[in-house]
Amino acid sequence: MELQRSKQLYQEALDVIVGGVNSPSRSFRAVGNGTPVFMKKAQGPYFWDEDGNRYIDYLAAFGPIILGHAHPHVTAAIIETASHGVLYGTPTEKEVRLAQMLREAIPSMEQIRFVNSGTEAVMTTIRLARAYTGRNKILKFAGCYHGHSDLVLVAAGSGPSTLGIPDSAGIPPSLAQEVITVPYNDLDAFQQALDAWGDQIAGVLVEPLVGNFGIVPPAPDFLNQVKTRAHQAGALVIFDEVITGFRFHYGAIQTLFDVEPDLTALGKIMGGGLPIGAYGGSKKIMDQVAPMGPMYQAGTMAGNPLSIAAGIACLETLAQPGTYERLDEMGRTLADAIEELAKKYNITITLNRMGGAFAVYFTDQPVVNYEDAQQADGELFGQFFRLMLEEGVYLAPSKYEAWFLTTTHSDEDIQFTIRAVERSFKRMSQGK
Ligand code: PMP
Repeated sequence: MELQRSKQLYQEALDVIVGGVNSPSRSFRAVGNGTPVFMKKAQGPYFWDEDGNRYIDYLAAFGPIILGHAHPHVTAAIIETASHGVLYGTPTEKEVRLAQMLREAIPSMEQIRFVNSGTEAVMTTIRLARAYTGRNKILKFAGCYHGHSDLVLVAAGSGPSTLGIPDSAGIPPSLAQEVITVPYNDLDAFQQALDAWGDQIAGVLVEPLVGNFGIVPPAPDFLNQVKTRAHQAGALVIFDEVITGFRFHYGAIQTLFDVEPDLTALGKIMGGGLPIGAYGGSKKIMDQVAPMGPMYQAGTMAGNPLSIAAGIACLETLAQPGTYERLDEMGRTLADAIEELAKKYNITITLNRMGGAFAVYFTDQPVVNYEDAQQADGELFGQFFRLMLEEGVYLAPSKYEAWFLTTTHSDEDIQFTIRAVERSFKRMSQGK
């Protein structure tokens, strides 16, 4: 496979863009291949790179592109909206419509505010929990990624997981002291933290299903217990549904698991691929937010017409019958085939799947928390990643990032991918 143009562009990029990438998760450092592939265009489930190579995309831009690339309904909404101006700095009707659609799909979000990213959404829910409770500490779960604001980068997952560093420099120890991190799916550790600091905790922040060290579902009753015990301690419960929102059904995963948080953060899919985030909760809590209350949060780009229009078009498309059944069916077919092929070629994997998203860990242990996920073999993953890339299949360049199906993957794409996995596993089993 020729990657001449990517190599040239990467050299130029290194000169002007730090690390050559605008988000560390795009770097190929963790997979033992220096040059990231520079993509030129995308359509449906496919990418084409600068050298003209085609790839089937299972990255889906780390989640948002659930309808595939350049979906006609979303594209038309963006073009039509752009022709009327891209930013007003005033309220618009469509913001109201998208907020109504969100509330209908996620009833716990009684009142909503749009922001520009998942990072902003989560960051603001933390400030709001602190404003509402008058407390300072936040409890979170190891390996969950909640964006790159200071507090949540204390012992976080996704970015650091890609780079293999445990933490970020530049975070004052005084802030880090306000964050308690316990293992996911571990109620004993959670209870111990509550016993020690319960009366100081403003909010318990959790990915209700982890999408940042692969795919890790909550143990039965975990979320219910987290909520009950957090409330007993007087803390709010914040679900970070930036990955899970609209991924597994038309709405948030809180509805599937039947546990309503006090605050929800959203992003990714609900913007149809344009920059967006949203947070919301009961009117009583949201009334703390300016201009209604004392907690300040604002944004020049917040609720911008393009992101809102793309979000509405994306949700309208997702709402069509059969969408999530199809994603689930494709996810099952592909995941089952990968498990069978792993057995056939004696490659040890653990596969966790939920609907159209799954993670392949090169480990023989079940993966229920971050420590388990870290045991996955990064060397083997790197080899697999590079072989799949050669085959024309683009995976996230991290040993525990999920594969995301889109509504545009066809049965033929799935079969193509299965053949690529077979050839890759075969070569790995032969030590090539
Ligand atoms: N929360 C979760 C669960 C995420 O997966 C992410 C992004 N991967 C974020 C927050 C941050 O979102 P953004 O990158 O849009 O700032």
